[in-house]
Amino acid sequence: MKTIVLGAGIIGISTAWHLLERGHEVVVVDRQPDAALETSFANAAQISVSYCEPWANRAAPWKALKWMFDKEAPLLLRPQLDWEQWRWCLKFLAQCNDTAFERNVQQIVALGAYSHAALKDVVRATGIQYHRLECGIAHFYSDQKSLDEAGHAVEVMRKFGVQRRLVSRAELLQIEPAFSAYGERITGGTYTSTDESGDARLFTQQLARRCAERGAQFLYGHDVLRLNKTGNTIDSVAVSAIQSGATGQKHSILKGDAIVVACGSYSAPLLRSVGVDLPIYPGKGYSATFPLLRPEAAPLVSAIDDGKKLAMSRLGDVLRVAGTIELGGFDLSLDNPVAKARCHLLSRRIEEVLPGVCDTRTPEQ
Ligand SMILES: Cc1cc2nc3c(=O)[nH]c(=O)nc-3n(C[C@H](O)[C@H](O)[C@H](O)COP(=O)(O)OP(=O)(O)OC[C@H]3O[C@@H](n4cnc5c(N)ncnc54)[C@H](O)[C@@H]3O)c2cc1C
Repeated sequence: MKTIVLGAGIIGISTAWHLLERGHEVVVVDRQPDAALETSFANAAQISVSYCEPWANRAAPWKALKWMFDKEAPLLLRPQLDWEQWRWCLKFLAQCNDTAFERNVQQIVALGAYSHAALKDVVRATGIQYHRLECGIAHFYSDQKSLDEAGHAVEVMRKFGVQRRLVSRAELLQIEPAFSAYGERITGGTYTSTDESGDARLFTQQLARRCAERGAQFLYGHDVLRLNKTGNTIDSVAVSAIQSGATGQKHSILKGDAIVVACGSYSAPLLRSVGVDLPIYPGKGYSATFPLLRPEAAPLVSAIDDGKKLAMSRLGDVLRVAGTIELGGFDLSLDNPVAKARCHLLSRRIEEVLPGVCDTRTPEQ
């Protein structure tokens, strides 16, 4: 069976690996020159199986409204003249109640447990090294109200078997002493020892090499233009090679017995054109990777600064800080006041929480 996988991010490549395991002939298509060069490039590096707390909760709509004019807000809604954005927001709102919260936690827990087991299998089978740290994930809170809300979420999660627990400030600092300099401002936290961290790009690129060794064909530098439908079946994909300076685009048609669409948030418009409606809207996050000045003072436990919705993860001799979300359409720009403020927040917050630990003047690519 020939399967075409569209997208060489962590999802597309992991899917390609599992398809090869099941004996498929696999072709992977991506517009970039290598795997993991878009969302999977520099995420917050958390394998947060237990971060099964949906952002849609009863407090979220009010927080989102309050934050609308705050450039540094953890969740920033930038209203657009775009029906897809409003449709997505309405669906999100419909989930902002306790019943939906509990149902969604249960489903995310199940998906997380399955994904974690699958990840461990791949790592065992391939021996891939990706700065994996099995030190757990801690969340820290800077105000009592947020900590109380976290306590409620912990109760719901524990009900479904997640080993997350509420910890005092003292316990948190014992689990990760690197946060001691900021300790006075921490109200308390949560900790899940079974969570991990690791570099998504390293993992994905190495797995892509293993897929190629097992016979997968890679069409990098190819744009997916459209899916072609015959009757009720999507049986082929139109792609074009991206050639710099080329005058005309060269199209070709790839035929497959099955097609996997793993193009991240771009999957939604692609599939909409063939009548498949996914409730996916792009969320823009920010990420910076700083060299360590004092490795001995840097955290090993991956952490989430809940008030800012920023995650910090140690990846060898660098620290990755990433997070926040902005809902304003497909926008990758960094040269506007909102993006500048949010980029600045990353380095400023690291200096507040881990003073002098990283060189925040020189983020890496
Ligand atoms: C700031 C930030 C921090 C995050 N932190 C974490 C974290 O700590 N832990 C976690 O689990 N998740 C985290 N995430 C989410 C996680 O990174 C994403 O869910 C994941 O990387 C998505 O992988 P993907 O393969 O679906 O998409 P992508 O990695 O974006 O891959 C999609 C691929 O499709 C290709 N593509 C798209 N359209 C086309 C087209 N038309 N033609 C050809 N190719 C196309 C792209 O080039 C890309 O390579 C974070 C996200 C952000 C933004």
